[in-house]
Amino acid sequence: MHLNFGKNVQLTPKKSYLPANEQEVLEILDRHRGQRIRVIGRLHSWSRIIETDDVLLDLRNLNQVEPSTEGGAPSVRVGAGCQIKHLLTELQIKRLWTLPSVGFITEQTIAGAISTGTHGSGKHSLSHYVMSVRIARYDTASGKAVIQEVTGGVALQALRCSLGCLGVIVNVQMQCRNAYRVEESFHEYNLISEVSATEEANPLQQFYLVPWRWTYFVQHRREVNTPSSTLLFIYQWYRFLFLDIGLHLAILFAIRVLRWRWFIRIMTSQIIPIFVIRDWRVVGPSNAQMVMEHELFRHIELELFVQKSKLDAALEYLQKVLKVAGGADVRKDDQVFRSQIAQIGMTDALKKISGTYCHHYPICIRKILVDDTLVSMASPSRRDLDSTIDEETSFRFANEHWYSITLSNFEMKKHRREFECVCEFLSRSMSKLFGMRPHWGKLCMLTSTELRDMYPRFLEFRQICREYDPESVFRNRWAEELLTNEKQ
Ligand SMILES: Cc1cc2nc3c(=O)[nH]c(=O)nc-3n(C[C@H](O)[C@H](O)[C@H](O)COP(=O)(O)OP(=O)(O)OC[C@H]3O[C@@H](n4cnc5c(N)ncnc54)[C@H](O)[C@@H]3O)c2cc1C
Repeated sequence: MHLNFGKNVQLTPKKSYLPANEQEVLEILDRHRGQRIRVIGRLHSWSRIIETDDVLLDLRNLNQVEPSTEGGAPSVRVGAGCQIKHLLTELQIKRLWTLPSVGFITEQTIAGAISTGTHGSGKHSLSHYVMSVRIARYDTASGKAVIQEVTGGVALQALRCSLGCLGVIVNVQMQCRNAYRVEESFHEYNLISEVSATEEANPLQQFYLVPWRWTYFVQHRREVNTPSSTLLFIYQWYRFLFLDIGLHLAILFAIRVLRWRWFIRIMTSQIIPIFVIRDWRVVGPSNAQMVMEHELFRHIELELFVQKSKLDAALEYLQKVLKVAGGADVRKDDQVFRSQIAQIGMTDALKKISGTYCHHYPICIRKILVDDTLVSMASPSRRDLDSTIDEETSFRFANEHWYSITLSNFEMKKHRREFECVCEFLSRSMSKLFGMRPHWGKLCMLTSTELRDMYPRFLEFRQICREYDPESVFRNRWAEELLTNEKQ
């Protein structure tokens, strides 16, 4: 049995394999023809996307890194099971290169990360930068396992974020770029409009809505040509000791030991902000500045994606729901909120979560540019696609970028139920009100029908899945539900 990072999903495969190379992958596929096959990366997903109960492949031994300038631009061919941290180190050592984007952490494998649309802040998701994919699957005519390289077209758009459903990815070619430096500093703002005003000057920034204080801490970030700061080393230790470790220990003490709501509120709104040093500008290599040690403490996450034009309203709504969940009755005097909830028929559902859960962790918000994919969370919305028809609309809406809103929960497994109910409420209500999409790799609580409806190119994705895997052997039960025609 395997458990994922969050210990909320169990995998119970009948057979597990650690192939050493592409040839062994093909032999395993031939041996298990007709059985269900799933591949795992580092199990850093929290959703049912990783469930496996038949044949499991772990490609950690396929981790070769081959940088090249074939075609004039820097790129890398990387084995599917290579962890991003290993890839970044190899690129740095061999060519002084890096990836165009990285997420909070670098523990994931490259194939696992692209398969769920993993992203960082201020750029596209990693999937967008995939140039070609080598994939093992069954040849439709002979039924034998074969490897195919996909370099373009709609198939590549599907493979860039394939949810593990098109076959076994064995190798990926990714765009690279020269290593660069990032200037970072923290500032606090009261209003989202103030945060948005700083975005142009700091395209890589991400920000945090602090629960019970309801202000925004912005991690301003921008690419610079200046050398690394002399105090970089001290800054890195500060970030590690106070933010990566100290902040988390304080929160764990509040939610796991004391469990007093009033203390959790004081901890998040008054105590933790004291340790965030404002206006200290520090320049350092992007690989260090953009990544955190977010994997040190076990937790689960919900991440919802909304387009820029709806971000402000979505954040305002989120605050109200969290206040209600935390015991406040904002419904009484807030006519807008009351009618929003009534309009989507969720008044009773809101009552059920009211007073059940006190949120304890800063809510992270990141910008993601529109991806050239079929179903990654930052893929074009219906409005983006329609906009190409109409010149005027196209100018206004095409490539309206996305923002992701992440809620993390560090409670013990037995106390997570209330958070999960709040997540379900938020996912359903915010998808109805603001067209929000949940991250494929994080808590994903919507039905297959709801998920399918969010992606205007879902039918094309399903068609490619059928072409590449007509027998549906690369799907688990969750993927089968998602890709089936039946209405739920
Ligand atoms: C602490 C933490 C921080 C995180 N931070 C971020 C973040 O900043 N941004 C973000 O977007 N996400 C983030 N995530 C989510 C994470 O990036 C994704 O869930 C990612 O998919 C996990 O990668 P993995 O290698 O562990 O793959 P797994 O979780 O093991 O697998 C994910 C999917 O990929 C498929 N897959 C894996 N390898 C292959 C292959 N070779 N061929 C075909 N399919 C394959 C699997 O079948 C599965 O469907 C975070 C997760 C954690 C635990």
